[in-house]
Amino acid sequence: MRRDRVLVVEDEDAIRELVAFHLEEAGHHVLHATDGEQAIAVARTEDLQLVVLDLMLPKMDGVAVLRELRRMGRVPVIMLTARTEEADRVRGLELGADDYMGKPFSPRELVARVKAVLRRTEPPVDSLQAGGVLLDLTAHRCFVGDREVSLTLTEFGLLQALMERPGQVLTRELLLEKVWGYDFYGDARTVDVHVRHLREKVEEEPSQPRLVETVRGVGYRFASA
Ligand code: CA
Repeated sequence: MRRDRVLVVEDEDAIRELVAFHLEEAGHHVLHATDGEQAIAVARTEDLQLVVLDLMLPKMDGVAVLRELRRMGRVPVIMLTARTEEADRVRGLELGADDYMGKPFSPRELVARVKAVLRRTEPPVDSLQAGGVLLDLTAHRCFVGDREVSLTLTEFGLLQALMERPGQVLTRELLLEKVWGYDFYGDARTVDVHVRHLREKVEEEPSQPRLVETVRGVGYRFASA
């Protein structure tokens, strides 16, 4: 999996390195900038998923950098600042910062905020594709090879749950939860019935399923090959 590239803009080396260390620990790839102009230069040439931006910077302050970043595109920004005035906070948010942290801050808290912002801003998955099956999540359509297959909402939900984790076994209980919801009071055999219907539609040979496999005593798995 590709690591998120996070640019940390801060002139105080100790703080920048501390933040970078914790973000690297959390699995992100970190790029550094020590002033505002450098931050813009990096943002112009690198594909970034997030920017952690200090407000007090040499050459170009954080607000000016943020304004320029917004002119360039929609990269998420978390602002850092030693100033606690409400006015600065409001100014940052007005300019489109996605979140804001006052110094001193806990690096763990910052890492949690970075994760939250990335989750919020990541583009939604609009289709799943595996084993010759294409699931169009936006249009709610299913294609097996060139053939379009008409699925009920439940069958679609089942197939989606399985295709989101190809090669992984999902128990009937987990499938019930994911497809029917936590408060559904149903029998695990409900899942078997719908899997049977699903197979009749998507499998070439429903009695010898190649896509939705049974894992005896455990549940079902979407073939990863
Ligand atoms: Ca600073």
